[in-house]
Amino acid sequence: MSSRGSGRLAAVLAALLAGALLLAGCGSAGEPPNLAPHVQAQRPTPANAEVSPEIDSVGSVSEDCGDPTASLRPKNGLATPPGSTMAEIKKRGILRVGVDQNTFLFGFRNPTTGNLEGFDIAIAREIAKALFGDPDRVRFKAITSQQRIDVLRDGTVDVVVRTMTINCERREQIEFSSVYFVAGQRVLVTKRSGYSGLADLAGKKVCATTGSTSLRNIAAADSEPIPVAVENWSDCLVLLQQGQVEAISTDDTILAGMAQQDPTTHVVGPKFTNEPYGVGIPKEDTDLVRYVNAVLQQVRKNTWQAVYDRWIEPALGPGTPPEPTYK
Ligand code: GLU
Repeated sequence: MSSRGSGRLAAVLAALLAGALLLAGCGSAGEPPNLAPHVQAQRPTPANAEVSPEIDSVGSVSEDCGDPTASLRPKNGLATPPGSTMAEIKKRGILRVGVDQNTFLFGFRNPTTGNLEGFDIAIAREIAKALFGDPDRVRFKAITSQQRIDVLRDGTVDVVVRTMTINCERREQIEFSSVYFVAGQRVLVTKRSGYSGLADLAGKKVCATTGSTSLRNIAAADSEPIPVAVENWSDCLVLLQQGQVEAISTDDTILAGMAQQDPTTHVVGPKFTNEPYGVGIPKEDTDLVRYVNAVLQQVRKNTWQAVYDRWIEPALGPGTPPEPTYK
């Protein structure tokens, strides 16, 4: 530090000390200072937050689709024949990918560079690298949990790589790649709350995003917590920090990122679901499903471990790539 900088620091410290002495002095006189009138600030609620939202019943869906994680086997490796979905993307010159920008470790914006980073972002870049020989030929579109299926169905993006659990219900509307990560739902609480799992949260507010499997699982929990739905995972963390909810419950991966962002919180209780992540792909683009699966085969052999060790290992410990299953 320059001498000018350290001089300024000393001045600031001296001022703080003087302030502290003044406060201590007031306290010891026994007379409370005449405080200016103040009101408690309203605690803001994030956009579209909803307590006890209506959650579509799963009843209308053919629950049993066999093994939902069984995907289409790679056929032509990394070939991109004329007329294929891959050839179209190459003609456009850029891969459009739906991602998260609010989930530390999986899809988040690095505040110093402004770039999107994380495990899911790395997977998206691997697909671009296979298509173009350039991991930067991607246009990221930040989407919420709820928007994942819509952006695939209306053609806004080519693929979605966004902590997306493969299940039968979603399979009715879109296709999935093979599994590239397996997460499981747990609970995040403040350390001082003393809660140790969902069983302790009867009648308490627990946050998750609209359109996530997590929200449904909270609503279905035996202990009957009160689900609170928001658009983004970061909204849940703010609500927890403000004391507007008692807990957040979602994938251990997402919670691990939050616990790193806020060390006054921690993850508790066992994993109570299985959340296999797949790349979401429009239903009609079966050639792209096979192509992405060929990319993922390479990724499992080559880069998966390094990407895992960079983002996830410090939080969740050692891991290995999940084996793919095919139909
Ligand atoms: N994996 C869960 C899901 O796909 C929760 C994660 C999320 O919504 O971002 O619904």
